[in-house]
Amino acid sequence: MSTESALTIKLKLNNGIEAPAIALGTYNSEGLQPKVKDAVKAAVKGGYRHIDTAWIYGTETYIGEALAELFAEGVVKREDLFITTKVWPTHWNDPSKSIDESLKRLGIDYLDLVLQHWPLTFKVDADGNPLMNDGQFVPDDGDYLDTWKKLIALYKKDNKKIRSIGVSNYTIPYLERLLKETDIVPVVNQVELHPSLPQVDLVKFSKDHGILTEAFSPLGSRGAPLLKLPIVETLAKKYDASPAEILINYHVKSGRLAAPRSINTERLAKGFNSVPLTADDLKSLDQEGIDHPKRYVNMGFAKSVGYENWSEDKP
Ligand code: NDP
Repeated sequence: MSTESALTIKLKLNNGIEAPAIALGTYNSEGLQPKVKDAVKAAVKGGYRHIDTAWIYGTETYIGEALAELFAEGVVKREDLFITTKVWPTHWNDPSKSIDESLKRLGIDYLDLVLQHWPLTFKVDADGNPLMNDGQFVPDDGDYLDTWKKLIALYKKDNKKIRSIGVSNYTIPYLERLLKETDIVPVVNQVELHPSLPQVDLVKFSKDHGILTEAFSPLGSRGAPLLKLPIVETLAKKYDASPAEILINYHVKSGRLAAPRSINTERLAKGFNSVPLTADDLKSLDQEGIDHPKRYVNMGFAKSVGYENWSEDKP
C-alpha cells in the first residue's frame, strides 16, 4: 500500500489560490460540538491543512480554541491553514455580519473561503436569530442571488479578509443564472457527492465553467454507510487500502475537494493515504450511483431548490 499522504494534495482555485483538497468536516450534532476542539487539534497534527465549518454548525468557537492552542504551541501558523466557513440563508441580506461573527468565533482575521451555504433566503426574528416555525426555518421572500452579489462586493472590497468566495448546494439551473447575472465565477460549489450520488452532469458543468466541486458527506454522513458499498470494498482490497481511503481518493483523484468529518482522534491522526485509482476505477465508482442513486442528506427545504428526496435516511 502507498504510504504517501493524500492530505498534501492541493488544487488550484480559479482565482489562483491553492486549497488542500481534503478538508476536515466539522458539522456535528447537538451535544457533540465541543469534541470538535480535540478533533481539529488531532487533525492538524496529523497533517490536515483545510478546515470546513459554517456559521450554523455551532462549532466555530471550538475550532477557534483549537487554533489558538495550535498557534501558541507552534504546530502551524495561520498562513499554513485554509479555513472555509459558510453564510446561512438567515444572513442572506447581510453576509458581512455572518462573516464577522465567524471570524470572531474562530479568532482569526481572514477567511480563505466563504461559501453561500444554500441558494435560499430565510427570515430572522426580532433579535436577528433564525426564525423557526415547528422546528423549520421560515422562508423569506428575498432573492438568493443577492447574497452572492453581496459576497462579490465584500470580496472586491477586501480580498485579504475574504480570499475566495464560492457557493454550496447549487444545482445546474442555479449556477446558470449566477453565471449569467454576475461577474465573479464561484471558486467552489460544495454539494453532496459520493459513489451513490456522483452528480456527473453537475460535476462536468462546473468543470467546464472553472468551478471546482467539493464533496460533502463523502462517507455517506452519519455512521459512514458507504464504507460498506461492495464496489468500495472491492477497490479497498485491490489496493490494500481502507474503504475510507477509496471514498476520499475517488474525489481527489478526480480533481475535486472533499470534506470528510470525524471526531475520532485516532482516525484523524492517521489521515488518508493516496491511492492510485485508475480512470476505470473512477468510472465504476460513478456507475454505482448512476445505477442506484441515493441521497443521504435530506433537508426538507432542499425541495425548493429542485432536490429530489431519494432516500428516507436522515443525516
Ligand atoms: P461524512 O460523510 O464525512 O461522514 C461522517 C461520519 O463518518 C461520522 O459518523 C464519522 O464518525 C464517520 N467516519 C469518519 N471516518 C470514518 C472511518 N474512517 N471509519 C468509520 N467511520 C468514519 O459526513 P458529513 O455529513 O458530516 O459530511 C462531512 C462534512 O461536509 C460536514 O462535517 C460538513 O463540514 C460538510 N457538509 C456540508 C453541507 C452543506 O450543506 N454544504 C451539508 C453536510 C455536510 P466519527 O466522527 O466517529 O469518526
